[in-house]
Amino acid sequence: MKIILLGPPGAGKGTQAKKLAQKLGLPHISTGDILRQNVSQSSGLGKEAQGYMTKGELVPDQLVTSMLIDRLKQPDCLNGFILDGYPRNLAQAKTLNEVFQNMGIDASLVIYLDASENIIIQRICGRLVCKKCQANFHVTNMPPKKEGICDYCRAELYQRVDDTQDTVKNRLNVYHKETSGLIEYYRQKGNFYTLNADEDADIVLSQMFELVQKTNGSAKIQS
Ligand code: AMP
Repeated sequence: MKIILLGPPGAGKGTQAKKLAQKLGLPHISTGDILRQNVSQSSGLGKEAQGYMTKGELVPDQLVTSMLIDRLKQPDCLNGFILDGYPRNLAQAKTLNEVFQNMGIDASLVIYLDASENIIIQRICGRLVCKKCQANFHVTNMPPKKEGICDYCRAELYQRVDDTQDTVKNRLNVYHKETSGLIEYYRQKGNFYTLNADEDADIVLSQMFELVQKTNGSAKIQS
């Protein structure tokens, strides 16, 4: 299964991708997570990307794309993966097509998580992320069992620098200008489904799993 998740920031792509990846035993590849890891390690890529990320702008294509290609070449991607945060514009979508063609694979499923703007802003401004395993929580919708601590790995939770009200507005503008056109692009290619991501996270997850089973009847949940 090669699954591409599309949707605005705050639609729940990261949360859903992590859960679906765990259920299906596939790697969750989030370009945002990989970039944030590079920023926290002050790598060359992290230093180049940081300014764009803090402002909510897209990191230049060539930086993100070569980072993604390196990740897709890892052996854990052989049986499939869940892609979250890439592609972000038409050039990236076309590059991804070429990368898939060169690897002899194709996207099995493209899921668009559609969410309304008031929900997006509420979700993003209350989001907490684990410093270690990147699990997502929310101060009111999905609070951790112990304040400030990750339920899964006990590491500290933090608020992303780009999860502020002002930056969210810019991220939404960038999304509408650069990314939303991909919905039509993938709709026309087929295997494309839209889910209402305003719904409760558990409902969206079970709908996603239904789509996976519809596309690949042999998909099994891992315990
Ligand atoms: P995300 O975690 O997906 O919300 O991404 C956080 C930030 O990382 C974005 O606002 C961009 O600055 C950067 N980023 C993540 N993925 C990409 C991408 N495919 N292309 C360009 N920038 C990206």
